[in-house]
Amino acid sequence: MAGHVCLQEAGAVFRRHFGAAPALIVADENTYPVAGEAVRAALVEAGINVEAEILPAKPRLAPDRLTAERIAARVGEMGAANNGGNPVPVAVGSGVINDLTRYAAFSAGTRFMSVPTAASMDGYTSAGAPLSDEGFKITIQCAPPRVILADLDVIAGAPARMSGWGYGDLAGKVPAGGDWLVADALGVESLDDTAWPMVQNELRGWLSDPEGVHRGNGAAIADLFIGLAVSGVAMEVYGSSRPASGAEHQIAHIWEMEDLSHEGEKVSHGACVAIGSLSMLSLYDWLLDQDISAIEPAVIPPRAPDWSAVEAAIDEAFPNANIARRAKEEMREKWVEREILAGRLAKLRDGWPALRDVLSSHLMRESQMRDLLAAAGAPVTTREIGLSPERHRATIRNARWIRRRYTLLDLLADAGLLEQAVEACFPDEAPLYS
Ligand SMILES: [Zn+2]
Repeated sequence: MAGHVCLQEAGAVFRRHFGAAPALIVADENTYPVAGEAVRAALVEAGINVEAEILPAKPRLAPDRLTAERIAARVGEMGAANNGGNPVPVAVGSGVINDLTRYAAFSAGTRFMSVPTAASMDGYTSAGAPLSDEGFKITIQCAPPRVILADLDVIAGAPARMSGWGYGDLAGKVPAGGDWLVADALGVESLDDTAWPMVQNELRGWLSDPEGVHRGNGAAIADLFIGLAVSGVAMEVYGSSRPASGAEHQIAHIWEMEDLSHEGEKVSHGACVAIGSLSMLSLYDWLLDQDISAIEPAVIPPRAPDWSAVEAAIDEAFPNANIARRAKEEMREKWVEREILAGRLAKLRDGWPALRDVLSSHLMRESQMRDLLAAAGAPVTTREIGLSPERHRATIRNARWIRRRYTLLDLLADAGLLEQAVEACFPDEAPLYS
């Protein structure tokens, strides 16, 4: 539902889905005046008993499990005061508020309603709550909102940079699709007939008006929001984030785990994904220029690190012991013995002409993506997110350790090409650092 009167419908929508349950509005100091007050008024008008949890806006809210548990406790208290009736949290905000509320509702054993205030990320429709747990970013499977009330006037009125972040998150579906094509071609993870077209068939259209997104043009913002929402649904349909997330997200997750900050503020998810996407498209541009048909599947595996060398590399990459332990668990899921690696490389060599063609027609060049992101107001250099070239290159080398999902980074590592590719794509004078 969209339009001027959308938020006034909040009371009727709430009653239809949750009856007379009490509501706990979860907002922050920015989103409460923008939409929370209107939602509260509409709920009160409909006879709903409403309380509000208004979180501080500064410093930018962190998706922390402890905060989510505190909100869950408040939901529990409301339930006890209501003779055990199930209160319904109403998330009024963007990514972090929705993630906190999703987890709080789930752990309090209730459902929730979402009122998005910005097209800033793809998680509104998803069941997973990406939260930080003792420093490691994990996605906890909860439940999606029972109802989403998206007022496009509110969303289009969000700060332009938040729409830029959402555009960055949506742009990430281009390299993420490439990674799924790679995994499919190597027999690691097949494309899905439902989830793949849901995200990929309309993606170019959703991304087609970056200037409009930046200006807050209603139609462009609607396309962006729909693209993000559909991507979230595709992840639910498929049962994992594969349809919408590849190595560009693994790169982003590293920076999120490291609490990457710039100018005193935590760098947003979409900004990290924008830089991750440009990084991955640079690597794809490089790969498509290589003669992969000439690789020697029998020669490469004996030089590949054994598992203990992988563990040592992970320990070196992640000084935080908790992160290193989780990374080893993830990496173990996709690491293969040398004989299996040889078979995979033979498949890569033999299938390369077909894979190259399908990647060429699916992907964008890095320069094309750079123009789109810049027009949408998303970052296009590492400087804009406070990242040095050295730290950027280290992330590219380490990103694949933290998730079991097979991506281009794994293909390059398997083929013994990762280091060569990093050096070729990210010299100090690379556009990403200019
Ligand atoms: Zn994302």
